[in-house]
Amino acid sequence: MGFSAHSTAGIAAVLLMAACSHQASPVTDAPAAASPALASVISAPPAETTGGFDGARAYKHVAGLVAIGPHPAGTDGIRRAQAYIIEQLKSFGCPVEEQDFHASTPIGDVAMKNILVKIPSANPNIILYASHYDTKRIDNFVGADDAGSSSGVLVEFARLVCARKNATTIWLAFLDGEEAFNLQWADPDNTYGSRELAASLALSGTLRHVKAMILVDMVGPASPVFKRETNSTPWLTDILWSTASRLGYGKVFIDEKSAIEDDHLSFLNRDVPATDIIDLEVPYWHTTNDTLDKIDPRALAITGHVLIASLPELEKKIH
Ligand SMILES: [Zn+2]
Repeated sequence: MGFSAHSTAGIAAVLLMAACSHQASPVTDAPAAASPALASVISAPPAETTGGFDGARAYKHVAGLVAIGPHPAGTDGIRRAQAYIIEQLKSFGCPVEEQDFHASTPIGDVAMKNILVKIPSANPNIILYASHYDTKRIDNFVGADDAGSSSGVLVEFARLVCARKNATTIWLAFLDGEEAFNLQWADPDNTYGSRELAASLALSGTLRHVKAMILVDMVGPASPVFKRETNSTPWLTDILWSTASRLGYGKVFIDEKSAIEDDHLSFLNRDVPATDIIDLEVPYWHTTNDTLDKIDPRALAITGHVLIASLPELEKKIH
């Protein structure tokens, strides 16, 4: 994803600030553990304190995706990431569909795959949750935060909503090809998966049933700060941010604004209400420093807690 043209000038200052204020994942207060990885896992809050969403499970999925190594669109790595995600979803009993397509990119035709979970309901209105799972095409870039964190959250979220009695149809989309093939993020070299999904739903007539699209992207740092994304649909952003405030996460979901271009634009451009939960102001963004040690299970748990806790209000709103 990228900052919009309006906010580009602020990036350097913002990143400098972030570099000063962000700290390494604080695992030192965790009880003694058998391995560093386990120490991080047990720093997640108990699932019963975060709406049943298990930050430790989400972290384990991030670790699983990072262990695959780099997985840009069209590579062997992403095929292993697809297998991992699909295996997890099926283990929860989620109905999984694969949307295979070909994208025309700066390096030629690339085979891509969106992974979809479509949880049926008597109510045909759809709430769509999405995360991209491809990593940026940079040597040795494993993308723990971008796109491991949000994909790990969405896999754990799937465990909850596939077993939940939902009042509306809920879809989850693991999107391919969000990242640009070129180093710079410039249209149309980005968001291949979300554009394909939105276009195919428009063609089939299903898009009019999608009443809300909630994107998660880069939700893993130790001190996450999510600003209200200004391209997004205000009422939808309000539901998430007010839920966060009610849960005591007002210092994570803050009222400051930021304009970010991301997969939600593919739906906003087709008049589907959409929003984006993202902390792009991290010093390791799109560098090989985006590694597992940057991921705090608590950040994943907070994000997941807000997703699951805001669902009843969202269901009421679009019923
Ligand atoms: Zn990225």
